[in-house]
Amino acid sequence: MRVRLARHAGFCMGVRRAMELALAQAHHAQGPVFTYGPLIHNPQVLELQASKGIQVLKEVPPPGSVSGGTVIIRAHGVPPQDKARLKQAGFSQIVEGTCPRVIRVQAIIARAAKRGAEVIIVGDASHPEVVGLLGHAQSRGRVVSRPGEVAELPELREVVVVAQTTQTSENFAAIVRALGRRFGPVEVHETICEATHRRQDEVKSLAHEVDGVVVVGGRNSGNTQRLAQVAAESNKPVFAVETEEELPREQLARLDLVGVTAGASTPNWLIKRVLRELVAIRSEREGGGSYLLRRVFRFFVRSQLLVALGAVGMACAASLLQGLAPHPALAAAAFFYIYAMHILNHFLDKEAGQYNDPDRAHFLAKHRGFLIGSGVFSAAAALALCALLGLLPFIIVGLMSLLGILYSVPVVPRALRDRLGFASLKDIPGSKTASAAGAWAVVVALLPAVSLEVWHPLALGLAMVYTAVLVFCRCAVFDVLDVQGDLVVGKETIPIMLGEAVTLRLVNWLLAALALLMILAPLAGPPAVLCFLLLAPIAGMALMQRVHSRRDMLPGAMSEALVDFNFWLAGVLALAWWIL
Ligand code: SF4
Repeated sequence: MRVRLARHAGFCMGVRRAMELALAQAHHAQGPVFTYGPLIHNPQVLELQASKGIQVLKEVPPPGSVSGGTVIIRAHGVPPQDKARLKQAGFSQIVEGTCPRVIRVQAIIARAAKRGAEVIIVGDASHPEVVGLLGHAQSRGRVVSRPGEVAELPELREVVVVAQTTQTSENFAAIVRALGRRFGPVEVHETICEATHRRQDEVKSLAHEVDGVVVVGGRNSGNTQRLAQVAAESNKPVFAVETEEELPREQLARLDLVGVTAGASTPNWLIKRVLRELVAIRSEREGGGSYLLRRVFRFFVRSQLLVALGAVGMACAASLLQGLAPHPALAAAAFFYIYAMHILNHFLDKEAGQYNDPDRAHFLAKHRGFLIGSGVFSAAAALALCALLGLLPFIIVGLMSLLGILYSVPVVPRALRDRLGFASLKDIPGSKTASAAGAWAVVVALLPAVSLEVWHPLALGLAMVYTAVLVFCRCAVFDVLDVQGDLVVGKETIPIMLGEAVTLRLVNWLLAALALLMILAPLAGPPAVLCFLLLAPIAGMALMQRVHSRRDMLPGAMSEALVDFNFWLAGVLALAWWIL
């Protein structure tokens, strides 16, 4: 059985924005935090919000009955009168979480009502978005959900039509035609959200290509239910589930190709759990040699052995860029240090891991004893090897290990925490990505120069920059994929600081600048052929950035391995150049 994930499955822009606002307020706001109505229609997300102290305000309290606190307006928006009443109730902060696309529809309606036009909203009268839109129409709004309802409308002049953002295009077009027949020319604003269009079109074609479709999302979520309806029109079996536990394993095991999509209110971590379960169903069905191979491969990736071997490759490339022959002890020190750093950090970071990568979290929990033991052993082995190489390498790696241990410990005195805004190094925005890039650069590029006492400042700088940029881009790409889980636990990663689109642009610019540097570097001494060969891992990283951001691959061990493969590639190309 194969699994194909729809590119636009999961949170849409508006829902993601509202979630980010709510979680940011939960981590930083003074006083209680509320959402006015449930932020999204997904029970698992609502449970998670409750665990973060975000309460749901069902109705506006009487004027003056509240003293302070923050209220977040959800992506659907609210009538303007409700915002005014929230202020009168006494909340100190009203955070506008209404989706910008809904705000646009509200503005169209408000303008039409102001000039005296009659507004028809195509949508479900009980849906919160429609309730909010009606509020902007003052008393000039009416809701129509089906073409048949047009006949029941009173006589109207100057009709303006808008759509609830999650309506289907077919229903909207049919109602517009019926309105035209009844009232003559009407002013039409097709305000169906692009995200809804794309998602529905995508599930339509996906359903025709696969043997069955799994739709992940809350049972109360209108857009999730609509996705299931659209998929069902293909006459293929459709399984609408809220969590992986609801998957009908026996029925799915009989299918060869399963498509997966998810509503706009479904978080990534729920989609990943469903994918993980589908892969488990596939493994059970297939069994045999390929199953065994997959398990070995998964162990290799999940245990961080793959990335640690990548450090060996980078150590060879960085040494050769400096004109130094690869040294087995230095390569082994890089392997042990990177293995220890990665595996122990995953255990320190396990709360975010449960959301970002449920498969890895499961793996870490299952092999906890072995992994922690081997991580501690590797840290000791890296230090012992550096001690053999000399006092300075030992001090450098010793200091870096100490920093690694202190990274998550609240070392800033309490009195200074509020003023500085952080208690430990890990709270500094972007520190994880920057420190990983710095640590790799020191271990794979600086350590050979220090240990062998051979200094070529330009070549050393090139090797360090090459390593740091590739590692920075690797971490930034993974941070973009992990943004939802990091938000939940309040981690300040680069995509959370800058936004996902800006981070991906930054990655592209850094890789382009690195490529230019490698092309120009031979003018300053490093071997031209080696510099040009090392362009391949840069191109590989750029390709993987694109693959991940476009969701061209399922998230999991294979997609992670392909990113880390670029470190191997650097080592293989550099060694081939050296041998030949
Ligand atoms: S579906 Fe579209 S309009 Fe609705 S919240 Fe999402 S992005 Fe905004």
